[in-house]
Amino acid sequence: MTDQCRACAAGLEHCHGALIHHAYRRDECTEDGCFTPPAAHDMHLDCSAVGCVCDEVGAVSAHRVG
Ligand SMILES: [Zn+2]
Ligand SMILES: [Zn+2]
Ligand SMILES: [Zn+2]
Repeated sequence: MTDQCRACAAGLEHCHGALIHHAYRRDECTEDGCFTPPAAHDMHLDCSAVGCVCDEVGAVSAHRVG
């Protein structure tokens, strides 16, 4: 591998995926089964940037119980 990033070379815990920040759901990584802390992600995305509408859904359902 010649394209290791600095964190890889240093053996640091990190993730090459993008962490998607949701308004009403847990943050979600594009890498399946990612357990890396949010701060260890190089890329961060707003969930609306990937077509998620949890913002709108959450705003509506916030007034409903069950
Ligand atoms: Zn790396
Ligand atoms: Zn990740
Ligand atoms: Zn979302």
